[in-house]
Amino acid sequence: MSTVAEADLAALFHPYTNLVKHPETGPMVITRGQGVRVYDEAGKEYIEGLAGLWCTTLGWGEERLAEVAAAQMRELPFYHLFSSKAHTPGVRLAEALKALAPVSDSKVFLACSGSEANDTAIKMIWYRNNALGRPQKKKIISRERAYHGVTVATGSLTGLPVNQRGFDLPIERILHTGCPHYWRYGEKGESEEQFATRRAEELEKLILAEGPDTVAAFFAEPVMGAGGVIVPPKGYFEKIQAVLKKYDVLLVADEVITGFGRTGNMFGCDTFGIRPDMMTVAKALSSGYLPISALIVSGEVFEPIKAQSGEIGSFGHGLTYGGHPVPAAVALETLKIYAERDIVGHVRKVAPVLQDGLRALQQHPLVGEARGLGLIGALELVADKDTKTAFDPKLAVGARVVAKAQAHGVILRAMGDAVAFAPPLVIEADDIRLLLERFRLALDEAH
Ligand code: PLP
Repeated sequence: MSTVAEADLAALFHPYTNLVKHPETGPMVITRGQGVRVYDEAGKEYIEGLAGLWCTTLGWGEERLAEVAAAQMRELPFYHLFSSKAHTPGVRLAEALKALAPVSDSKVFLACSGSEANDTAIKMIWYRNNALGRPQKKKIISRERAYHGVTVATGSLTGLPVNQRGFDLPIERILHTGCPHYWRYGEKGESEEQFATRRAEELEKLILAEGPDTVAAFFAEPVMGAGGVIVPPKGYFEKIQAVLKKYDVLLVADEVITGFGRTGNMFGCDTFGIRPDMMTVAKALSSGYLPISALIVSGEVFEPIKAQSGEIGSFGHGLTYGGHPVPAAVALETLKIYAERDIVGHVRKVAPVLQDGLRALQQHPLVGEARGLGLIGALELVADKDTKTAFDPKLAVGARVVAKAQAHGVILRAMGDAVAFAPPLVIEADDIRLLLERFRLALDEAH
């Protein structure tokens, strides 16, 4: 029989991978995990500095989730939510999310991934505006460096070249406005607040240029994740929301990374005073143990959609596995654990260790900016600190530093030359220190 590595090279089409280089490097096969650590085939231990893909908030080896999944598998391994059918985990999860999320008078739609939740949001927005008799109000604005998924529509919302080059994206009706990264895009002498005002004015200009009666919604991650962990400048969301309100443009908060404690509050919306019309969550919803996502819509968004479904005869959208009972049961248990262990309180307690540690690394010659809040952050590596000059992308400095960190037993992810940190939310202070120490070794070697 072939080894896993041989079988990988022969059979697996890897996502987000340089498919030409992959056969040279081969796969890194992870075989097990415990707490904030994972182990490869050779038994080498790594601290998972990005909680897998920003999702494994409770770390590995959480027995309660495994037990709930096994019990649900035995009780009711599948049922669906189409045509008024229901099952207890799906209904109870909707009830729990309705109670938790800052979306007024909400209804909860369940899907399997962040992309599907955001894609569903787009379809609901279009459906609603048809119902309201304004079929021309369909354009959706997101931001450069945003990440909202990879389906045809959400890959269009995403504002990263790698997701669009070669794929014929973005599609029509999807527009982008400027990224709210003050350190990179703030002008000389411009304060953070002035920069936020400029970004809001740009949004308003875009809406006016397109025609407010053609613009339906604005998507935003409270803290941009895959775009390099961009924390919005002071006052940004307040100013943006004023513009959206003025032109009757819905606000969709993509909390796929920020939801359930990551920023030091239950939701990024709480941290930044965002009052969304729709919110999407995934990843931490089940601590990444099983695929599940949710779209939480306000009563105001829901009502016209409801009426339209009556006219048409059905709301013609749904996913076979949306709200699957096993992931739904695991998500419910995850939410229970968050409450019992006061996960938000824990994040607040240990966040200074990560944030101060990242700020201390700002002294390093390779680090241009250290940024973040709660248990999410990034270090931006630059060729020249004073001028903020970026490295030539061909040098792949971020990826090289991450590879060195891996040799020292830390798994991280580089977005260009921004190295992101988002460990499991259960991480303790000592492990954050160890993670940063190991990363410093990698930085020193790369210098
Ligand atoms: N939205 C955000 C903010 C994300 O970070 C991601 C994934 O990283 C998505 C949406 C897409 O989620 P998925 O990969 O589950 O489709």
